Amino acid sequence: SIRTRFAPSPTGMFHVGNARSLLLNWVVARQSGGAMVLRIEDTDAARSRPEWTEGILAAMAWLGVDATQYEGPYSQTDYADKHTEAAQRLRKEGLAYYCDCKREQVQARRDNPNLGYDGFCRDRGLEAGPGRALRFRIPEGGPTLVEDQIRGRVEFPHEALEDFVIARGDGTALFVLANVVDDVEMGITHVIRGEEHLSNAPKQQLLWEALGHTPPVWAHAPVLVNEKRQKLSKRRDKVAMESYQAEGFLPEAMVNYLMLLGWAPGEDREIMPIEEMIPLFDLADVNSSPAFFDEKKLRAFNGDYIRALDVDEFVKRCAPYLEGDEVPWRPEDFDADVFAQIAPLAQSRVAVLSEIVPNVDFLFLDLPIFDEKSWAKAMKPGIGAEMLTAAIATYSDESLDWEAEALKGALEQAGAAQGLKLGKAQAPVRVAVTGRTVGLPLFESLELLGRERTLERLHAALE
Ligand code: GLU
Repeated sequence: SIRTRFAPSPTGMFHVGNARSLLLNWVVARQSGGAMVLRIEDTDAARSRPEWTEGILAAMAWLGVDATQYEGPYSQTDYADKHTEAAQRLRKEGLAYYCDCKREQVQARRDNPNLGYDGFCRDRGLEAGPGRALRFRIPEGGPTLVEDQIRGRVEFPHEALEDFVIARGDGTALFVLANVVDDVEMGITHVIRGEEHLSNAPKQQLLWEALGHTPPVWAHAPVLVNEKRQKLSKRRDKVAMESYQAEGFLPEAMVNYLMLLGWAPGEDREIMPIEEMIPLFDLADVNSSPAFFDEKKLRAFNGDYIRALDVDEFVKRCAPYLEGDEVPWRPEDFDADVFAQIAPLAQSRVAVLSEIVPNVDFLFLDLPIFDEKSWAKAMKPGIGAEMLTAAIATYSDESLDWEAEALKGALEQAGAAQGLKLGKAQAPVRVAVTGRTVGLPLFESLELLGRERTLERLHAALE
């Protein structure tokens, strides 16, 4: 049965490329009733850190791939002995040899410095020793044909493959070998990963064969690019899964969007839960050209997913964004009942959950946060102060029902008396009460805020 693996290196934030590889491996394992292995490739001691491993596990769980969904996690370093053993076996069988060439020596022997190792030590029969690397002997003949599920057949002429290093002078294996030995040990049938590893595939396929095993099915998923068609980079682009989570993207929207990078379920459908995609997905249908990671589109997806939530669920998902150090109100001034009442109005307006805060903050603050531009725009001479005065007059009338429809009717009338349509007439009131020119429906907001607080704000804005 099919066995895939997700093999991240714990050397940085879990990013969108990791997430995409994870999902492909998970989907392929699940659609066949197979299994996915999680292997933490932590052999680069200088760059690996336990907190990055924790970040990987947390991001995976957030995406819905928790510990029940994979075998492991295994640490690559736990298998170091197996890696060394394999290197030694290759050496004994004459498939690898020791080399003591220094980089400068190799370069001095070649006209073209871009060409790799020249095979100088191939037949020198060197024994192990300090500073001697073990190199894999690229077999005569070739080419090596990598049958890639996504890219089709990719040919690698052996003249273009150098005798690459598989173990260092101290006997420790290099990544390229460790990765294969682990895949062999773990019974991996499908290696699905990012295109940046395609150049490793011919070397690794030769290693699989040299170790006496049938190579796996390969699939190298297309590179992800930004709107300028540049490869996504953590310096330039927002790639950390953590930032998307913090901003309030829903994991199900993220998963849905990531699956559409280079693939579509057909029938023009885009919004589709992963469970429905699983039976439809086929690696062979993935497009091999670079896939545009379009944050705008992801945002739009997220808005759709947010609107599709039950209100109760929406309220629940908002909770983490309504507390903590970043919210502008005092914790004791937050009123969950008021929030529950305004939630349906907010739900239709936000694209990410964190946007909830500027939409509702006016309800929980003593005075709204005034946005300078909004203020200048709404408080035009001849309109601003006049409308605030008129609103105070009409809203002070105790016989007016404090209810959205009535509040709207009253302000409409007050505006008409000054020759203003409702849109113009309500702008100063909106800014006085909420601090902004755009936001939730005004009269529902006033209803929730109450007569006393509304009047207080209208007065304060006049001063
Ligand atoms: N550890 C590698 C990475 O994080 C993955 C290698 C592989 O999937 O074969 O890029």
